[in-house]
Amino acid sequence: MWIGKKVIDSLLAFFFPRYCLLCDSPLREDERIVCKSCWARLEIITDRFCQRCGCPLRSGETICDSCLKSGYYFSFNRSLVPFDQRYQTLIHSLKYERMTSLATGLGEKLLFLLRGEPRFVSAQGIVPVPLHPTKLRERGYNQSLLLAQEVSKRQGLPLIDDGLLRVKRTKSQTKLTLEERVENVRGAFKVVSREKIESKRLILVDDVFTTGSTLNSCAETLMEAGAREVYGLTLAIAKRSL
Ligand SMILES: [Zn+2]
Ligand SMILES: [Zn+2]
Repeated sequence: MWIGKKVIDSLLAFFFPRYCLLCDSPLREDERIVCKSCWARLEIITDRFCQRCGCPLRSGETICDSCLKSGYYFSFNRSLVPFDQRYQTLIHSLKYERMTSLATGLGEKLLFLLRGEPRFVSAQGIVPVPLHPTKLRERGYNQSLLLAQEVSKRQGLPLIDDGLLRVKRTKSQTKLTLEERVENVRGAFKVVSREKIESKRLILVDDVFTTGSTLNSCAETLMEAGAREVYGLTLAIAKRSL
């Protein structure tokens, strides 16, 4: 007997229900990875954020303590959500579990940030933070490139994915102090196609802003190659109390 695909899908969903990554409720047939209500409730940082790094702030402040103490090569950064436990799971899945279709939904949300900030809208190109070629081979994809591709496609903004290279195989930043992180990514990037960078306002895309050292090292390299300005656009930002 011939069984239609719909029937098979329903049977599979009955025996192997899929659950939302964020709230654990069963997913409907038209939902993937995260349920619709979690997407709608995504806690986007839209008010009271640091004017330099984009981290959430208490009322009355315009720049966070960390930014008061540091200078950056990028003009500012905006992040979509705070890097707390919920969104850690989401980003981990995008990064390590090949849930690359997540990039579509997240890219759409990043567009919301982009369109609300005139400096982003004035940008002439979008650059993903590159992975080292060895790491790219191991992982099979660069999550920052997937996000940049989504934003580029939806906004009609030229994607520059071969302008910046990661030439140093850096250690994982997770357990490093701020000073160690800065040292770890020093000289890690190189511009290969200067003509694609020169005199341009560029959006630099990464997944997580922790201390900003990776973003800053990339921005330094781009500015030294003649970029006019660099703006950070990242998925999540860690709490920034030093
Ligand atoms: Zn959910
Ligand atoms: Zn800040």
